[in-house]
Amino acid sequence: MRIDILTLFPEIFSDPLQASLLGKAIEEGRMTVALTDPRDFAQDRHRRVDDAPYGGGAGMVMQCGPLVAAVESLRTKNSLRRVILMTPRGRRLDQALAKELAAEEDLVLVCGRYEGIDERVVNALGAEEISIGDYVLSGGELPALVLVETLSRMLPGVVGDWESVETDSFYDGLLGPPQYTRPPEFQGVPVPEVLLSGNHAAIRRWRRKEALRATRARRPDLLVGLNDEDKKLLAELENEAAGDKEIAP
Ligand code: SAM
Repeated sequence: MRIDILTLFPEIFSDPLQASLLGKAIEEGRMTVALTDPRDFAQDRHRRVDDAPYGGGAGMVMQCGPLVAAVESLRTKNSLRRVILMTPRGRRLDQALAKELAAEEDLVLVCGRYEGIDERVVNALGAEEISIGDYVLSGGELPALVLVETLSRMLPGVVGDWESVETDSFYDGLLGPPQYTRPPEFQGVPVPEVLLSGNHAAIRRWRRKEALRATRARRPDLLVGLNDEDKKLLAELENEAAGDKEIAP
């Protein structure tokens, strides 16, 4: 997968793109990330890419010209299909959208700065808009990194054991189950016995039930489209909760 990122601050990307699993994915050629500075496409000698907002108000707005020219230059090189503007006004990034984007061969991500990007860029580029959440950062660079790292986990071979991707929270719509490692007891709290049993079927069932328990408690909105086994486990959880209520004084 190839991702081109347009940013006025390429230096923000240097360490994150080299570290850990993402760094390895890039080093092994499973993902290519290239950075383009829209200033290189500015039309004046001051390399200007922003101007004051029409109608007045605080801050500066990123201009259409350099951004559109920069993306068009990449399109001719790579026949890029999807252009994504990182913006708090966009569609909220979730695992389903990430899965869809991970199937693409190439993407362009555009990072805004200042008060944002001139609205006409969206149409000029046929771009989609994506937000990483309902809060505002100073620039699109961290949102772009969030997206890149999320996509990298879904590329074959990036995470050594595919099972760990499949059991991630949200991968199949639920929160993930709790995880434990050595020691078997910490501050008097033991690891659930089933995890030490070596019984893979029982462990799989326990994990699924705990994923459902966490989702039921924290994100009941995600409990949709459950299969028969999930429904049965959920019914067990409901019964346990009803039993707990009866016992409580
Ligand atoms: N004035 C804009 C608004 O109210 O929507 C916010 C501009 S923000 C200070 C500057 C840039 O940061 C945006 O153009 C966008 O690229 C990026 N950004 C900030 N928060 C974001 C978020 N939650 N998701 C994606 N991008 C974000």
